[in-house]
Amino acid sequence: MAKKRIIVQKYGGTSVADPGKIKHVAKRVKECKDRGYDVAVVVSALGKTTDALLNLAAEISSDPVERELDMLMSTGEQVSVALLAMALHEIGEEAISFTGAQVGIITDSSHTKARILDISTKRIKEQFAKGRIVIVAGFQGTDPDQEITTLGRGGSDVTAVALAKVLSAEVCEIYTDVKGVYTADPRTVKNARKLENISYDEMLEFASLGAQVMQARSIEVASKFNIPIHVRASFCDEQGTMICKEVKKMEDVLVRGVTVNKDEAKVTVCDVPDKPGEASRLFACLAKANINVDMIIQNVSRTRRTDISFTVHASDLKRTQEVVKEANKKIGAIDVKFDKDVAKLSVVGVGMRSHSGVAAKMFGALASEKINIDMISTSEIKISCVIRKKDAEAAVRVTHKAFGLNKKK
Ligand code: ASP
Ligand code: MG
Repeated sequence: MAKKRIIVQKYGGTSVADPGKIKHVAKRVKECKDRGYDVAVVVSALGKTTDALLNLAAEISSDPVERELDMLMSTGEQVSVALLAMALHEIGEEAISFTGAQVGIITDSSHTKARILDISTKRIKEQFAKGRIVIVAGFQGTDPDQEITTLGRGGSDVTAVALAKVLSAEVCEIYTDVKGVYTADPRTVKNARKLENISYDEMLEFASLGAQVMQARSIEVASKFNIPIHVRASFCDEQGTMICKEVKKMEDVLVRGVTVNKDEAKVTVCDVPDKPGEASRLFACLAKANINVDMIIQNVSRTRRTDISFTVHASDLKRTQEVVKEANKKIGAIDVKFDKDVAKLSVVGVGMRSHSGVAAKMFGALASEKINIDMISTSEIKISCVIRKKDAEAAVRVTHKAFGLNKKK
């Protein structure tokens, strides 16, 4: 007998936020089964359950032990898998739900941000053989000592992608509350377009830049194993966006999309003595405090002193202030400035590798709206500018237009 084809579907929290939505998801899962597939479904916790659980913990303790946080957070997904199984039973389907531990999702021991080491396919395949739909709790696993772990916020995506890999699924479908990946946030840019395709590298940039569609780590895994991902809406049938390996044709497009991130803050350490070891001292202190630094800029000094600017996540700003002030006792910079009113505007596209003039076009667009640029950083497929937060929306619109992103390619 020919082997049945397998699809992994993942439904995010918004897609299973209430009983009505769970029933709707059951129908979509059934449709897939009816098309002749074996279906493994990964679900997130209902709506904002994980946040609610974390808030509860915060009411008990300001510094809960991470092992117990994982015990707590992992309950969210256990609720949704059971409810979805019941919803499938109600419409006459055979389905069974499992926790991460039950299907053998083995992770390392780093609580709250564990990485998947291995997944056993035995139980899932046994259930497929019985004609059942298998529902797996996202975002969780157990470490080799059978301690429950979670995979970092948004981690159901990585559960889905990893399952697609071990099951050799045809595709990993990510169902969400948007119709796919867009050239810009449609709430800001009215004529933003849904992309048919996007490469793993581009999607990884978007995810890292704070686009909420998928967890960055899951894209890394998909890219490593070349798992095709289809991001689509749970509320309609429309084709979404395929995330896949880069093909030559993708380079014809200069820029795939524009994003803006308002969750960063800028720090400038002014008049740092221009001698070996100062930057190292500063960033070693930040690293020790576990503060992630994004952009870093230092210019040549003409006065034997120089300014160093960098950005951090806004939620880290308070700690950054403490650390930098402390570090400055040794560095002897003259002043430190903290700025929360910034936004980071980025254009992303693999076409940049083979075309020049992208930066000029971006800067020109911003200039035409009289938007000032604070900082610039580039990678092979991305250019980011730090601008004033109040200019964020106008900047996205003018950049989107300058690159002709509203027009179908
Ligand atoms: N429920 C988890 C979270 O909110 C995992 C997920 O939704 O993917 O982060
Ligand atoms: Mg999510």
